[in-house]
Amino acid sequence: MARHNRRRTDEVRPLSAGYASRRAEGDSIVQDVTGAQATKTYICPGCNQQIRPGTAHVVVWDRYDGPQWRRHWHSPCWRRH
Ligand SMILES: [Zn+2]
Repeated sequence: MARHNRRRTDEVRPLSAGYASRRAEGDSIVQDVTGAQATKTYICPGCNQQIRPGTAHVVVWDRYDGPQWRRHWHSPCWRRH
């Protein structure tokens, strides 16, 4: 069983043309947003600073609450929160 090679790109499954990839981290769903997709300014709950348009970041929501409760985080803020 070739389970050791977890970074193969064929394990990244695009959901739609608008999104890069989505993954589960515990009970959270983490969605990558590329700079090209980031067209609005958001407030990151990790640092309370703005996420400017054009900044690659992540969208995170609880898998039980659903994506209507999603929050936008800077990628490094999410990783260390
Ligand atoms: Zn932040």
